[in-house]
Amino acid sequence: MKPCVGQEHPVSVNDVLQRKDNALHRSALPVRKNGRIRSVNGTSVSGAARYSESPEVVGFRKKWYPDITNAQWNSWRWQVTHRLESAAQLEKMFRLSHSEHDALYSEDNVFPFAVTPYYASLLHPDDPDDPLRRTVIPVMKEHVRSFGEADDPLCEDAMSPVPGIIHRYPDRVLFLVTPWCSTYCRYCTRSRMVGNHKIALKSYKKRISGALTYIASNPAIRDVLLSGGDPLTLDNIRLEWLLREVRNIPHVEVIRIGTKVPVVLPQRITDDLVMMLRQYHPLWMSVHVTHPKEITSEAQRAFNVLADAGIPLGSQTVLLSGVNDDSAILRDLYHRLMRVRVKPYYLYQCDPITGSAHFRTSVEKGVEMIASLQGHTSGYAVPRYVIDAPGGGGKIPIEPDRRVSRSGGMLELVNYEGGNFSYPDTGNGVPSRNHATMDGWSR
Ligand code: SF4
Repeated sequence: MKPCVGQEHPVSVNDVLQRKDNALHRSALPVRKNGRIRSVNGTSVSGAARYSESPEVVGFRKKWYPDITNAQWNSWRWQVTHRLESAAQLEKMFRLSHSEHDALYSEDNVFPFAVTPYYASLLHPDDPDDPLRRTVIPVMKEHVRSFGEADDPLCEDAMSPVPGIIHRYPDRVLFLVTPWCSTYCRYCTRSRMVGNHKIALKSYKKRISGALTYIASNPAIRDVLLSGGDPLTLDNIRLEWLLREVRNIPHVEVIRIGTKVPVVLPQRITDDLVMMLRQYHPLWMSVHVTHPKEITSEAQRAFNVLADAGIPLGSQTVLLSGVNDDSAILRDLYHRLMRVRVKPYYLYQCDPITGSAHFRTSVEKGVEMIASLQGHTSGYAVPRYVIDAPGGGGKIPIEPDRRVSRSGGMLELVNYEGGNFSYPDTGNGVPSRNHATMDGWSR
């Protein structure tokens, strides 16, 4: 069963506008003008399909879906019910490598394969080394467990006080609201549980209600991150119910949603969705992005609509060998994200999940990537590079070390161009003449 496919939310724009909400949020709501819905800054967010299609998408549609109407293609429900899920489907559209072919036909696959037709249109049909193709089409290396790898390297299962909750940090929890994604990433940290479509509805409801009870009974939890799977694959009714339940817990200040939907299924970012989401502010969104090729005109529209709804957007990117471990690629990605109001937030070292060695870079490579960005582009465009510590240690930031040495009260530093500078590091709040040696600083 695909739990995300249900009835669309029947609430009209006017219903939403009439809801009692606080004045601050209401002031930002879209308004109706000449029968069309317009956001406050004038960008149209009308329900009619207005997708400006990327050239790759146009060519792919023409070749493989010539009879599919715009309305069908631009419907997220059509996209998820027509996901490519089998080797036979893929074989028709892509020239598969031996490794891809064998992995797709293998009976030992633990983690399912699925990709939306939209995202499939962004993959190179002939090149198995195409960066996006590598992230979603399995290869036989997934079946090899390398040194240090584990199915649950972050020990999330041990930090789960009740099913559906991972409680690693004191004031926040991860709430796993669905095991389902529209497209599966081959390096997924939760591949041990994501894609499991066999959870019975009864046990799903029990799991969700147990998780909500856990959050409600722990007043220290002020921040709840809805994750999964991908929460935006839930229909509006289910998602709104979850948001309302969490928002009604008095000590929860912030709700966040972790999602890859804006880049793998941008059609999901509908007017009804954003009008619903904005009722639950402060609501933040962490968007999983991998490569500049994902920032298509369709994805740009999705990001702009979310930003217009007042949802702060941050990106999360996994550093992947041969996919995005190149400073020009990362810089391009981060600049494109900045242009659509997404703050590059985290660059993750790839977690050592089973069968991921072909994706992992060295940590030095990650430090090199950050060093190549710092000073060379806006500070806002530089994410924090982190290792999610195996064993459950949480995210540990890794920075290029700019401190070279200390001499007396002076800290010797090196800047982004390799230049040497000194800083008078006497900061104990007490004026002192002992270290007053710099021109213009001594008195
Ligand atoms: S979108 Fe997230 S949860 Fe889904 S497969 Fe990719 S990494 Fe895993």
